[in-house]
Amino acid sequence: MKALIDGLLKFQSEAFPKRAELFKHLASTQSPATLFITCSDSRVVPELLTQQEPGELFVIRNAGNIVPSYGPEPGGVSATVEYAVAVLGVTDIVICGHSDCGAMTAIAQCKCMNHLPAVASWLRHAESARVINSARSHVSDTAKVGSMVRENVIAQLANIQTHPSVRLALEQGRLNLHGWVYDIETGTVDALDGATRRFVPLARHPHTYALQAQRNSDVA
Ligand code: ZN
Repeated sequence: MKALIDGLLKFQSEAFPKRAELFKHLASTQSPATLFITCSDSRVVPELLTQQEPGELFVIRNAGNIVPSYGPEPGGVSATVEYAVAVLGVTDIVICGHSDCGAMTAIAQCKCMNHLPAVASWLRHAESARVINSARSHVSDTAKVGSMVRENVIAQLANIQTHPSVRLALEQGRLNLHGWVYDIETGTVDALDGATRRFVPLARHPHTYALQAQRNSDVA
């Protein structure tokens, strides 16, 4: 805990003064353009990997970067998605999986989770990805986990489209969806190309979308 408090004191003496004007502006308002949904994993830091400042990302993090499908009893993820889309008016949603994901490894390797009933229940929201991934052949356990990570991003992109606020924004052409997989060791990101359903290096294909809003005629 000492490291956290030391860090807070360093923030107050060094990082905060550099952004004093920004924080003054942010004191009573926020208008992030992006909802970033990723895993709780300590190695995935959305603001660091996208180099965004405070106020620029609205973030949901949980085990396995999961978005439960909309249902009769919406939970915290659903409420946060709804607020981001319907109130903040985000224009982009990124669902970002990552390499060496513990949640996806547990699913891919069919690990016994009897001692983790809440985790086991939560990961059922990735069941469609598990079924697809387990029906495929994989060259190695590592490849199977990597494939599970990608399939889960695709599954969660499908789940989020069951949310009424998301469906309405898509219908009105004001929302883009992105599916990313971040590699911890290299810092690279592969993005889902919705047209081909393949993941491509984002650095070489920066205009890759999972689902793109209807383009206006004046957009190149
Ligand atoms: Zn993870």
